[in-house]
Amino acid sequence: MAIWEKKYECCPREELEQLQLERLQSSLNRAYKNVSFYRKMFDRLTIVPEDISTQADFSKLPFTTKKDLHENYPYGLFAVPLREVVRIHTTTETSLTPTVVGFTRNDLHNWANLVARFLTASGITDDDVIQISCHYGLYTGAFGLHHGAERIGASVIPASSGNTEKQIRIMQDYRTTVIATTPSYALILAEQIERLGFDPKQLLLKKGILGGEIWSETTRQYIEERLFIEVFDNYGVSELMGPGIAGECEARCGMHIGEDHFLPEIIDPSTGTVLPQGATGELVLSTLTREAFPLIRYRTGDITRLEYAPCSCGRTTVRMQRIEGRTDDIIIIKGISVLPSAIEHTLADIEGCQPHYQIIVQRINNRDVLEVHVAVSEHIFFDEIKRQEFFRDKVRETLSRRLGLRVDVKLMEQKTLTEQVRSQGRVVDRRLL
Ligand SMILES: [Zn+2]
Repeated sequence: MAIWEKKYECCPREELEQLQLERLQSSLNRAYKNVSFYRKMFDRLTIVPEDISTQADFSKLPFTTKKDLHENYPYGLFAVPLREVVRIHTTTETSLTPTVVGFTRNDLHNWANLVARFLTASGITDDDVIQISCHYGLYTGAFGLHHGAERIGASVIPASSGNTEKQIRIMQDYRTTVIATTPSYALILAEQIERLGFDPKQLLLKKGILGGEIWSETTRQYIEERLFIEVFDNYGVSELMGPGIAGECEARCGMHIGEDHFLPEIIDPSTGTVLPQGATGELVLSTLTREAFPLIRYRTGDITRLEYAPCSCGRTTVRMQRIEGRTDDIIIIKGISVLPSAIEHTLADIEGCQPHYQIIVQRINNRDVLEVHVAVSEHIFFDEIKRQEFFRDKVRETLSRRLGLRVDVKLMEQKTLTEQVRSQGRVVDRRLL
């Protein structure tokens, strides 16, 4: 199986760690010399980048958070003058001040290579026709995938997002072999294909490159069975780069991180302590090669685990496991911590539930109430009221028993729920309003 940059992807661990340390030194120096936020940080600690010579020294440095990015909006954390910046993107949030990230020519070159790595790792070649069904705009997703796919020589269709019927037509007429999008949009595509009475086997679609959301193995299976494709997960953080930070190989047992460009750590989100290898916690990433926008110990808010055991594909880079949740998504209700993934796993066991849901927490008469909106298959949604109620009660009882607290349940159509999640988010905590 092809490997895009064997030299880095299959580098012996010892050499890779040495390279990381060297690149870290130069990255810290760049940040210290060119970004006043980081210079002040080192000055406060009365150290200089040269004092950081081991991983232990490094883990004493403070974290960079989303708040720091907001406070330095728009260009405060740029490490190069705008003259050297050739691309500007913003992150995907809507409620707060956006975060602006910049790329130099080298940054864009590395970004395309990193995407090319995971596309190659999933078996995509220059023979493939890739339909990028992600929003082309200020966000990083579509552009990252686009340039990576061009780098490997695939035929790229910049279909952008929306207009599902048109997307299906493009897929059919232009003989798309790979679809790159989000898991929730892949679900919409699958549903629409079914609704149109179209046989997905007539398409030439072979693979799905999905990312940009928290999703599960159940969703993967659901999409694979409906579209008759093989689906691969990838991971990006728009503050650092976008897609390209990590992606699955054909072994599909975790996403290989581009460790020659990013240094990963796993911390306890409540104390900030670095956790031992194999533990589950918050992923913290430092850039090793970014010129325009170096970030030191950036808290991603994503909960995962790193697997260092050798992978059957021959790559030596660490594999991050599927994101289990967000540090800001852990809901504490009546003293019980609930991870959205626990709700998803429970729903997956109930026949008729689709792997799609939204969690609403609110305070009614001084009592915290947890409500879960669940997408159900059409035959249940349009069933007679009595049978629908019976099904709802079954979901409510199963969820309440597994989570150990009372849960209210509302059944919804897949499409309505997807739109609701897109506009409001997976978890809506109205107690914070
Ligand atoms: Zn692998």
